[in-house]
Amino acid sequence: MNSTVRNEPVPVLTDAERTPSLLVIDDAEEMRLVLEAMLDQAGYPFVQTVESFEAARPFLERRDDEGRCPYDLILLDLMMPGVDGIEACRWIRADRALDDTPIIVITAKTGSHDLEQAFQAGAMDFIRKPIDRVELLARIRSALRYKHQLDTVKDHERTLVELASRLQEANETLERLSTLDGLTGIANRRAFDVALHRELRRAARKSQPISLILMDIDYFKAYNDHYGHLQGDACLVQVAQAIAGFANRPGDIAARYGGEEFALLLPDTAQDSAYRLAERVRAAVAALGLPHERSACAAHVTLSLGVACMTPIPGTMPGDLIAAADRALYSAKETGRNRSMPLPPA
Ligand code: GH3
Ligand code: MG
Ligand code: MG
Repeated sequence: MNSTVRNEPVPVLTDAERTPSLLVIDDAEEMRLVLEAMLDQAGYPFVQTVESFEAARPFLERRDDEGRCPYDLILLDLMMPGVDGIEACRWIRADRALDDTPIIVITAKTGSHDLEQAFQAGAMDFIRKPIDRVELLARIRSALRYKHQLDTVKDHERTLVELASRLQEANETLERLSTLDGLTGIANRRAFDVALHRELRRAARKSQPISLILMDIDYFKAYNDHYGHLQGDACLVQVAQAIAGFANRPGDIAARYGGEEFALLLPDTAQDSAYRLAERVRAAVAALGLPHERSACAAHVTLSLGVACMTPIPGTMPGDLIAAADRALYSAKETGRNRSMPLPPA
């Protein structure tokens, strides 16, 4: 049992590898015919032959959908009247779309000076006349393999760049969404906490006052019970928008603190200014005129607001300001709702 069958892997070829496009530039008709015959016999179906660089230019100026030259390889005669092979090499290398297209120069000369010039001008390989078929095909194959590898690497690079940019976009969207309240579209509790932390530190550094208004819709459970949860949601959206209209200065932030509670953080704002602003917010929400039949304090949706202000020192905790505003809000509720309350004396 002496099996001679070898199990060689079958290479998976792409279309570009299977059907490369070749451009042959040679002024000698006989040489063009020889090359055409050899390439045809070797199975290259897309071979364009031209007699001069001038005649080649319209072909070299062709571009595929991605702006690339459709030729995978150029066979270029070194000695031609008019633009010779060296000059043609330089011209081709100077064109960005042709930058990756390998050039094999064909030369009858035996000296190395011309070859050196050709390599300097950007040729990748050479083949001597008279053409040896085996040598020609071997050099073409290796140039095409090189071109194919280059194309693959560039495709991967392009895909990576595209993926990286899509990833960045997705991250930015995620970042934005993660700071917004899904229902009302204003800042959420997370964003509020971050801002409070940052603004407290800034206020401590600058020895500036910072104010916080905590707001709560009055009798909102009864609103939901009477008008339904969906209308409750719509009410929250409108109230949130009205409140957000008062976060006007840099550093101000209007946020949904939770449920039917909202917060307005006002850096560099003293207690009396914050109180006046709270009263304007209350008036703005009342002016929405959202009917509230089950409210015990008005015929429309109203807010109770607690106002707190402090000039923090290093070490002041965010919870200190929140607790103070919460106490003021509790006081507003206790004394009849639909009102703003400054922090009561401790
Ligand atoms: P008070 O005047 O004392 O604030 O009374 P209240 O009814 O507003 O307060 P309570 O805390 O008893 O009820 C809050 C209600 O807010 C209950 C809850 O169902 C409702 N709520 C919280 N979040 C949402 C929401 O996202 N959508 C809707 N529709 N309702 C919400
Ligand atoms: Mg509440
Ligand atoms: Mg409430």
